[in-house]
Amino acid sequence: MTNSARKFLKYPLYPPPQPLLEKLMIKLHFGGIIKCYICGKIAKAYIKDWNLRETCICSNCKSTNRQRQVAYVLCKVLEEEKKVSFKSLEDIITINNFAIYNTEAGGPLHNTLVKSRKYTFSEFFNHNYSSGTKVKGVLHQDLTKLSFKEQSFDLVISGDVFEHIPDPYKAHKEVYRVLKSGGRHIFTVPFYQTEYFDEVRAQMSKRWKNILIKPPLFHQDPIREEGVLVYTIFGLEMLIKLAQIGFKTHFYKLYLPLHGIIGPNAIVFEAIKS
Ligand SMILES: [Zn+2]
Repeated sequence: MTNSARKFLKYPLYPPPQPLLEKLMIKLHFGGIIKCYICGKIAKAYIKDWNLRETCICSNCKSTNRQRQVAYVLCKVLEEEKKVSFKSLEDIITINNFAIYNTEAGGPLHNTLVKSRKYTFSEFFNHNYSSGTKVKGVLHQDLTKLSFKEQSFDLVISGDVFEHIPDPYKAHKEVYRVLKSGGRHIFTVPFYQTEYFDEVRAQMSKRWKNILIKPPLFHQDPIREEGVLVYTIFGLEMLIKLAQIGFKTHFYKLYLPLHGIIGPNAIVFEAIKS
């Protein structure tokens, strides 16, 4: 391909060279002073290592870059829809009659949203429990078999959850079912910006046994010390499959250093139930 054609290329999204600013941030372990979209405060951002997605920690609410990405998209899309200014997640909790379901029961997003009136949150414990039961005081939900009624929520949030579900599209269908018309699922997942197909790394047998297709990859997990297995890393195929379910999906690639949103993988999806 000639250089002249390359400059018009829109997909695959080949990563640009790392900006000098980010190299410096990693070296200094400091992401600068940021305005945090979760706590709404001006804070310092600390950088642990090169994986910018999981670091750039807000000194106030301890949110990561990835968590702030979700909060940013949420504030901006709701601002546009409701014609009201939402400067941080703290403003979102003031919306009346706005039913939110978070697929996680911990972390800075949860710690803020828990102050909201119509807020539901859950964790997945294990297959021995059925959705809707409480385990150690926390609601258990299997995203592929949610216990909620149809059209229950205005918003569903998940942050790096769907890669850990053996059948992620069954879970997306369930999210579609429980969303109200016009409701949205705002989420992050590991996503290959240069691939067309999902990478299925593992599957689960009918007897709940993991069948590895690629070497096992584990992510940190708040309730499982050993971590949690990655079944899928998503590609462009995900957008097609979401469209087949009925979602209109927006793909946001963010870069907002003043808000601690940096790195080549600041990607957030907004799947709208049309
Ligand atoms: Zn913060």
